[in-house]
Amino acid sequence: MKKSVLKKFQKIVGKENCFISPEETSGYCFDAFAKSNVFPEVVVAPENAECIPEIIRLCNEENLAVVTRGAGTNLSGGTLPFEGSCVLLTTKLNKIKEINKADHYAVVDAGVVTTDIANAAVKAGLFYPPDPGSMNISTIGGNVAENAGGLRGLKYGVTKDYLMGLTLFDAEANKVIGGGRTVKQVTGFNLPGLFAGSEGLLGIMTEFVLKLIPPPESSRSMLVIYDNILKACDTVSEIIAENILPATMELMDNFTIKTVEEATAIGLPVDAGALLLLEIDGHHAQVADEFEKVKYICEKNGGHLKTAEDEESRNKIWEARRKALSSLARLKPTLILEDATVPRSKISSMMSSIMDISRKYEITIGTFGHAGDGNLHPTILTDKRDKEEMLRVEKAVDEIFSVALNLGGTLSGEHGVGTAKAKYLEMEYGSGTVKFMKNLKKGVDAGNVLNPGKMGL
Ligand SMILES: Cc1cc2nc3c(=O)[nH]c(=O)nc-3n(C[C@H](O)[C@H](O)[C@H](O)COP(=O)(O)OP(=O)(O)OC[C@H]3O[C@@H](n4cnc5c(N)ncnc54)[C@H](O)[C@@H]3O)c2cc1C
Repeated sequence: MKKSVLKKFQKIVGKENCFISPEETSGYCFDAFAKSNVFPEVVVAPENAECIPEIIRLCNEENLAVVTRGAGTNLSGGTLPFEGSCVLLTTKLNKIKEINKADHYAVVDAGVVTTDIANAAVKAGLFYPPDPGSMNISTIGGNVAENAGGLRGLKYGVTKDYLMGLTLFDAEANKVIGGGRTVKQVTGFNLPGLFAGSEGLLGIMTEFVLKLIPPPESSRSMLVIYDNILKACDTVSEIIAENILPATMELMDNFTIKTVEEATAIGLPVDAGALLLLEIDGHHAQVADEFEKVKYICEKNGGHLKTAEDEESRNKIWEARRKALSSLARLKPTLILEDATVPRSKISSMMSSIMDISRKYEITIGTFGHAGDGNLHPTILTDKRDKEEMLRVEKAVDEIFSVALNLGGTLSGEHGVGTAKAKYLEMEYGSGTVKFMKNLKKGVDAGNVLNPGKMGL
């Protein structure tokens, strides 16, 4: 980068918030999905949102693409830099500006860590439900841009369901405001809806108004042990068909159970074919009633139920689930985490197909996921240096997506498209839809400045 340009960036964000040496920028060549050999030209970490328009103008002048980055935990290659790009880091925009108890909302900067929002809500006697497994590090900007889900998605929905309003800067550095602080607000286009899942392609979001809700009065967590994973899947479909919506219904297969236990020694039953981790919540009487019904359905399907009687055992149950991905990641150099999602009644079919695919292509797949919302994470363990195995992995991934779509499902339940799934987008929605998305992108970012190429757009 020319010294004169660097000086301009330094003037905007301060010398201490501007990085260009390979040692400083190499940490931004990867996210939780992949590593790229391309280094960003510059990384800037603004301390206030007001200087973002100046950054955008300078990037336009200097032909630099802007890759907005929160914590870089996305699993779809959404923050991988390009030749000649500026990574705009939001982590210093991290103020919780307001927790409004009377009107049940929070106003937060884009770089606030998700857990901090959840904790601030609890302190005010309120509840922010979206809880991605990465919530201790992910930022709310990344959550909105990926429309992140979480363990409680089954009952409480995903990030978009809590996004009331937002402020952003577009590719021409205009300030854009969508939604607001009122429960009903239908003025103009539904910009919060459009920006949930926008993956950094349509604007740089700086502030959000998030809906908070009253917390449930009580909850009950349990771990259900099965000798056969398909019986666990059937249990999930039956519980939903009974009109019971647990807050959480998570699945782990035998391979994942063993791997988590090896990594954490929390006492999981390593011989189990599968585990369901369940939490029901709500009014005391409702919890008591649903517990009996859930217990009955679990046992009818051959499940052996263990309830968490205190906070410590409850935490253990959720720790087991939250450690699934990191535990699997220890086993092989390359981990490919898929996100195929199907209607809940089709979980057993999806699970059987994943097992068939694993056998057919002779690859190791550990599966866990948010079974309650049909969102399975078949996780392939491989080594990208093994060219022959990688070819089989590619075929297996193609087949997993094709099965999910044939079952009426989707390519991504929560991890987005990024670079990872760009080639599949048309398969789900058809060419007309992809053309519409391209036109939309062109309309708001004619110069293709914002995260170009991601989602294949
Ligand atoms: C261990 C682990 C567990 C996970 N569990 C879950 C889970 O349960 N559910 C789930 O949904 N995901 C999960 N994820 C994926 C990931 O944490 C989420 O996608 C999260 O929302 C990403 O947040 P981030 O701050 O890291 O965003 P980043 O990875 O930095 O960015 C993600 C995308 O958002 C864009 N972006 C970020 N900030 C902004 C902004 N301010 N304005 C515009 N665009 C922006 C980026 O350009 C990029 O395209 C998990 C990841 C890991 C590593």
